[in-house]
Amino acid sequence: MRFADSHCHLTDPQFDNDRDLVLERARSAGVARCIVIGATGDFSHNERAVALARQHPDLFAVVGVHPHDAKTITPETYIRLRELAHHPKVVGLGETGLDFYYDNSPRADQRRHFRAFIRLARELDLPLSLHVRDAYPEAIGILRAEGEGQVKGVMHCFTGTEEDAHALLELGLFISFSGIVTFKNAQALREVLRIVPLTRLLIETDCPLLAPVPYRGRRNEPAYVVRVAETIATVTNRPLAAIAEATLRNTEQLFRLPV
Ligand SMILES: [Zn+2]
Ligand SMILES: [Zn+2]
Repeated sequence: MRFADSHCHLTDPQFDNDRDLVLERARSAGVARCIVIGATGDFSHNERAVALARQHPDLFAVVGVHPHDAKTITPETYIRLRELAHHPKVVGLGETGLDFYYDNSPRADQRRHFRAFIRLARELDLPLSLHVRDAYPEAIGILRAEGEGQVKGVMHCFTGTEEDAHALLELGLFISFSGIVTFKNAQALREVLRIVPLTRLLIETDCPLLAPVPYRGRRNEPAYVVRVAETIATVTNRPLAAIAEATLRNTEQLFRLPV
């Protein structure tokens, strides 16, 4: 069985001592594709994500600036992102969106740059990795206004309501679930899982954070995406192979990966 981790932060310093072992464990577990998110702290992580993807045929990079860091964006940031976006292993932009839970950057900056990222994605014809927390209705409104149904992308680490999921599906987006679906207190999220069609479903680790049960609280890594798939299989009453195959295919399709 082969799997895809559609969102991981493999340049995080937590992997500096054993990154190659982490990748070996992922491959042994059947994880055939990893989307490495460059929005992992300061801008240099974007360059590191691209370098990592160049070294490994099964890794691909998504470049951008996290909504937490929206206040650090300058016109120069977009020039550098455009340059990186031309690299063949760069398959998307993000993560971008709105995070009104932490409010690490002023909301006005988050909104402005979220819009700018949607426009850039449309111009470059790249999919978006979207991050939204405590701001689904507003983010959906912006996607609708800016995208006119033309935005391609995935809502990563989805934690919204059934209504939010329906709105995202209507916009043509994919919805990705992380290790949160394995948490005891995530019953509501597991209910939402049932309404997402297999053709729009992605899975991810968002590592090093959000390790699924039974690794909860420890460092997360791409090999554990299998636990996410297993939980989805159980909740939706489908064979694990069907979840693995569909989410791998969807990841390849959305990010236009070589198959
Ligand atoms: Zn995120
Ligand atoms: Zn992330």
